[in-house]
Amino acid sequence: MSKNKSSESVKVVVRCRPMNDKERAAKFERVVSVDVKLGQIIVRNPREASASELPKVFTFDSVYDWNSKQIDLYDETFRPLVDSVLLGFNGTIFAYGQTGTGKTYTMEGVRNDPERRGVIPNSFEHIFTHISRSQNQQYLVRASYLEIYQEEIKDLLSKDQSRRLELRERPDTGVYVKDLLSFVTKSVWEIEHVMNVGNQNRSVGATNMNEHSSRSHAIFVITVECSELSVDGENHIRVGKLNLVDLAGSERQTKTGAHGERLKEATKINLSLSALGNVISALVDGRSSHIPYRDSKLTRLLQDSLGGNARTVMVANIGPASYNVEETLTTLRYSNRAKNIKNKPRINEDPKDALLREFQEEIARLKAQLQKRLGKKKKRRQRRRAVEGHDDEELEEGETEDDDDEDGDDKGDYWREQQEKLERERKAIMDDHSLVAEEKVLLLKEKEKKMEDLKREREAGEMLAAKVKAMESKLLVGGKNIVDHTNEQQRMLEQRRQEIAEQKRREREMQQQMESRDEETLELKETYSSLQQEVDIKTKKLKKLFAKLQAVKAEIQDLQEVHINHRQELEQTQNELTRDLKLKHLIIENFIPLEEKNKIVNRAYMDDEDEHWKMKPITRIEDEHQMMTRPLSAVGYRRPLCQHARVALIMKPDIRYKAENILILDMDMPAQTTKEYQEPVIAPKVAAALEDALRDEDEIQVDASRFHSSFAPTSASGSLKKPKTGKKSGTPTSPFSPSSPGPPLYPQTRGLVPK
Ligand code: ADP
Ligand code: MG
Repeated sequence: MSKNKSSESVKVVVRCRPMNDKERAAKFERVVSVDVKLGQIIVRNPREASASELPKVFTFDSVYDWNSKQIDLYDETFRPLVDSVLLGFNGTIFAYGQTGTGKTYTMEGVRNDPERRGVIPNSFEHIFTHISRSQNQQYLVRASYLEIYQEEIKDLLSKDQSRRLELRERPDTGVYVKDLLSFVTKSVWEIEHVMNVGNQNRSVGATNMNEHSSRSHAIFVITVECSELSVDGENHIRVGKLNLVDLAGSERQTKTGAHGERLKEATKINLSLSALGNVISALVDGRSSHIPYRDSKLTRLLQDSLGGNARTVMVANIGPASYNVEETLTTLRYSNRAKNIKNKPRINEDPKDALLREFQEEIARLKAQLQKRLGKKKKRRQRRRAVEGHDDEELEEGETEDDDDEDGDDKGDYWREQQEKLERERKAIMDDHSLVAEEKVLLLKEKEKKMEDLKREREAGEMLAAKVKAMESKLLVGGKNIVDHTNEQQRMLEQRRQEIAEQKRREREMQQQMESRDEETLELKETYSSLQQEVDIKTKKLKKLFAKLQAVKAEIQDLQEVHINHRQELEQTQNELTRDLKLKHLIIENFIPLEEKNKIVNRAYMDDEDEHWKMKPITRIEDEHQMMTRPLSAVGYRRPLCQHARVALIMKPDIRYKAENILILDMDMPAQTTKEYQEPVIAPKVAAALEDALRDEDEIQVDASRFHSSFAPTSASGSLKKPKTGKKSGTPTSPFSPSSPGPPLYPQTRGLVPK
């Protein structure tokens, strides 16, 4: 890596969503204001008591308010990034923020509405338009889609959604997801289809989509490979990878009151997100030499985007309403730190894992194979013609020499000729009466075999040709439609002009800003005409500076508070985990014999790839194939016993410690060949009716007072006892409703509850 490589900061933009209907209905106050020109977000404290408190101001690369259009964001912020991906840089877009602030809206947007499409679909359009305009370049575009939930990676494009993938690392290409599927796509439509399939899988796996999506990270990856003939006459391949990341909601997950498994789960849920925060802090801090990329799957996978060789944009999404103010401030502080991360973007030229190279080589190989086949065939035909006496017929020049043009027709003719010839010969044999029957059969069989061979050969040739065609179709080339092309170019030109204008406007504003600052400093150097004037000006100045000082002080205080809260939470988690650990140690010390423990400790090792503890198999070192003799773990006993059990055994030899099992070993369960019973899905209407029918009879209220007078005396206690079970007995119940007057009436056997 060269030292003079230019570094650039992570670009951070903030987008504030509009108030939603609920917030408007509840008449929440808007506490966020957005100064698009100066790139500032201003947050007021909504509390009455702190009315005197100054609003907090944050400055970013660009900011977008509630009126911002998706396409504006794309043109100003994302288009340049995607452009550099097309040049061979790696690029990443993170959407960060509290749940419900518009991360998914920014990344995906509203499907089927061109105005409200997010970055992902807009980038599809951008990439394929770029390719169609390109010239003398070959492209290969592929897409993957994955999700990280509770530190497990799931391939959203895989058929088997229960499978979890692992991260692997290679020294040449870095960290990657093992066995992650990627689909080669040839058009906007195809890549959209890939996205839709992934989105569907995402919602299918989740029982509660809202909760799931707010706790998981979704990463859509587009890889664009481009091959171009350079001046040195060699084909060079550049590979750009675009990671589009919809992060989990940044709101604090409450961990209070969680123990054991639940605690572990809670700490796992946003591990990736807090690790992301720690990585950002460590990168910005400048003092720490260790960046904790390895702490989570997300940071490991996207290591390159944070302080690496990729270009990165972070979109921080916030909500405008007063009740969100704490989370909004947290998000703003977080992103404020992120803008100080420095990356060193670099083009990936001729990387080892370029798929395009493989494709090109495979196509060349198949073509050569096909050529060989055709060559063979032609020689055969020439030979045949010579034998059959066609040699006097003039061979047309182009027919044999020029392969490519007449290949199709030529091929067809050849096969037809061959088939016809065989057919003719077969007929001749059939008609030939001089042959003996057996001989005929033999000859016919031979001919049939020849025909079979011919057919097979033909099919193989066709298959090869089809394969070449299929592979070639995956490589995209541009410059097809010239008229359309110029139109497009014009449009592009206009767009560019717009962009340039926008840029200039921005520059002007920056200039203004700088000038106003300069003025401030100039004031200090000014000479004053009178002492009074000097006092006035300086007092004004002092007031301004004092206000600034107060703002900074308040910010420091806030940060300290946030810090303390965070630390308390971490301490609490640590305490819980320590307690857990202590309990485990206690169990091990008291219930697992020392020698057993040592054996396990000796066999255990950390698998760096999987990041799990594993057990080494019991084998002899010198001979790997022979199993070691079974270790004598409990001499004289049937099983390993703990000290307590041994003592108890001696004291009272007949008690249960005799065969106490201490180590619980898992059995190897055979693969299940039956299916789990699944309840049929019942429509809510039917379910309600069923429930009604099966309801316990306790709940049926029957007015039985009228029967009372005539039948009660027969019962000693004066009440009719209801059978204990709620089941219906075989006894027929009264055909008359209890309230209907007139005989014959006889008491129902049960279910009557006298008042
Ligand atoms: P998140 O993914 O951060 O949880 P969503 O993207 O699902 O949030 O947004 C929540 C709701 O707010 C959605 O209904 C979305 O349409 C709406 N929304 C978010 N941002 C905007 C915006 N800039 N303009 C209009 N509607 C928005
Ligand atoms: Mg979302």
